[in-house]
Amino acid sequence: MTEPIQTISLALTPEEQEAVDALQQEMGLAGPSEVIHVLLRQAQQRVSVVCPTCGHSARKTAEDVASCTSCMSVLELSDGIWQVISLQ
Ligand SMILES: [Zn+2]
Repeated sequence: MTEPIQTISLALTPEEQEAVDALQQEMGLAGPSEVIHVLLRQAQQRVSVVCPTCGHSARKTAEDVASCTSCMSVLELSDGIWQVISLQ
């Protein structure tokens, strides 16, 4: 089975390389690039905002403010939860 090898050019320090190796084993992934993919996905999920009003994805406009691209609600992050502060 031939899988295209995805080269991710990240300059990892030996410590980071070690962490990636450990995560790879822990998660039972095929290779270091798999680990990077998972980490990138997680980072992406952290920044993605779901609109409490309509459930569509909202766009972050500032660190703790976002606006829904679907219903145009303005959301604000409070106590780690995105809440609607105005409906337009
Ligand atoms: Zn919305």
